[in-house]
Amino acid sequence: MAQTCIHWVPQGLRLHDNPALMAALRDCRKLYPVFIPRTPYLHNNTSVGINRWRFLIGALKDLDGSLRKLNSSSGVDVRARSSLNVSAMLSTNLSVGECTVIKKKTESVSCDACLKGNFRGRRFKCLICYDYDLCASCYESGATTTRHTTEHPMQCILTRVDYDLYYGGDTFSVDQPQSFTCPYCGKMGYTETSLQEHVTSEHAETSTEVGWVCSFEKPQTSPNSLTPSTTVLSPYVTFGCLSARTFWWRLTDVYQGKKHSDPPVSLHGQLLWREFYYTASVGIPNFNKMEGNSVCTQVDWDTNPEYLAAWTEARTGFPFIDAIMTQLRQEGWIHHLARHAVACFLTRGDLWISWEEGQKVFEELLLDGDWALNAGNWMWLSASAFFHQFFRVYSPVAFGKKTDKNGDYIKKYLPLLKKFPAAYIYEPWKAPRSVQQAAGCIVGKDYPHPIVQHEVISKKNIQRMKLAYAKRSTDPAESPSKKQGVKRKAPSVVDMLTKKERKK
Ligand code: FAD
Ligand code: MG
Repeated sequence: MAQTCIHWVPQGLRLHDNPALMAALRDCRKLYPVFIPRTPYLHNNTSVGINRWRFLIGALKDLDGSLRKLNSSSGVDVRARSSLNVSAMLSTNLSVGECTVIKKKTESVSCDACLKGNFRGRRFKCLICYDYDLCASCYESGATTTRHTTEHPMQCILTRVDYDLYYGGDTFSVDQPQSFTCPYCGKMGYTETSLQEHVTSEHAETSTEVGWVCSFEKPQTSPNSLTPSTTVLSPYVTFGCLSARTFWWRLTDVYQGKKHSDPPVSLHGQLLWREFYYTASVGIPNFNKMEGNSVCTQVDWDTNPEYLAAWTEARTGFPFIDAIMTQLRQEGWIHHLARHAVACFLTRGDLWISWEEGQKVFEELLLDGDWALNAGNWMWLSASAFFHQFFRVYSPVAFGKKTDKNGDYIKKYLPLLKKFPAAYIYEPWKAPRSVQQAAGCIVGKDYPHPIVQHEVISKKNIQRMKLAYAKRSTDPAESPSKKQGVKRKAPSVVDMLTKKERKK
């Protein structure tokens, strides 16, 4: 048995379903859990907003506390990447939970370097349900199109992997800080108390009622309900506080013997979307960019800093869009269909700005900001990849009305508009002057005029999109098969279902 084991917890901030931690505990006498913040957290000009910091620190504290309770006096140590030398010093075992390997090269390099270093290291996969290496090798062999081969990696999900952590051995403490501290918090100019509360934690506990889970259908949920209409578990899944596999199997337990919704609209279906984007991101180079990305339609997006700023800062003059962007900034979470609305508006719908710009803003502001899911969904919404019905554009006025006629959501996030009657709350510029005066809000003075004329611009943009698509099918350089790295085809969600599930 090895003396000491460093347990590097990149994105697995949990004790349940944590094979890396299990192995470390099984094989070693002493455990040294260390968290090394990933690159985006370290830049001076951080691309991680204050809300995500708060969430991360909460998650680390929670893990720290759980580890200390577990027959242990050691918690999590938060370290800079360079201090990985610590592990070399200890010349020990390293166990790495799944992390960054399928993300940016630079990050996986450091991980690989550790594994090749002086000490024995093992890496465990615990980020998604499927084995993405198996999936990727299937894409590489160009085999995803047939049912037979898609079933191969899918088997991974059939094996139940509930690793409940149990440790009954010696205390596993080494030199550890006595109490949890996060050095980066101060460096970033934050104090822990300055970080804002957010909407999610309470809600997560109440949304797990059996009937609700069984009848969950994503399209029936609402982008603008005042309490969230989906689980809001995404930040927990993103940081690995909740294992996607545990989430999957708990749902399976709830469904057992009951009538329940099915993928792609069920909660199982939502997790499959996650698997889908992750596995696609492994096999497709430059997944988070348009250029050099073989599945991404090349579009002549405009550079328009003014429009981009108006969208980012919630001053487009469309209350539905501005309310969503306000919620995003304040709370760090918005509903999936709200993401649809603002993403379509920024890109192909209205402002004709690259999805990469929207991706950056989301990366900063979302609690659940995730490299693969953010990029994949932005490509979907901008009709750059995976989704191609670019002629279907969301109206920044009509879409929100479907589920919130009164505009209560708008009134909550844009209190400036709260005295507008329902007839004008989505289009305050149409209100007669006397109504604006009575509402105490003059359009053009207190709240902006709409930044574009949606009916006009969206029609023009559909034409521009049509051109991009036409070019795609005629330009040999644009033809997927001619491009580097594209022998593979991204799987569909239906491909990802198990045989049993597909039969239903
Ligand atoms: P639920 O509906 O309760 O779903 C349960 C879980 O399934 C989620 O927690 C999430 O892990 C997964 N899931 C649900 N929908 C999707 C989806 N479309 N794609 C992938 N996984 C999904 N999700 C992120 O986690 N991180 C991101 O950075 C992110 N960026 C997005 C950007 C855009 C432009 C869009 C349109 C969507 C993005 N999503 C992202 C996907 C989705 O909107 C969120 O996962 C979902 O809204 C989170 O809320 P929830 O936990 O209540 O979801
Ligand atoms: Mg069933």
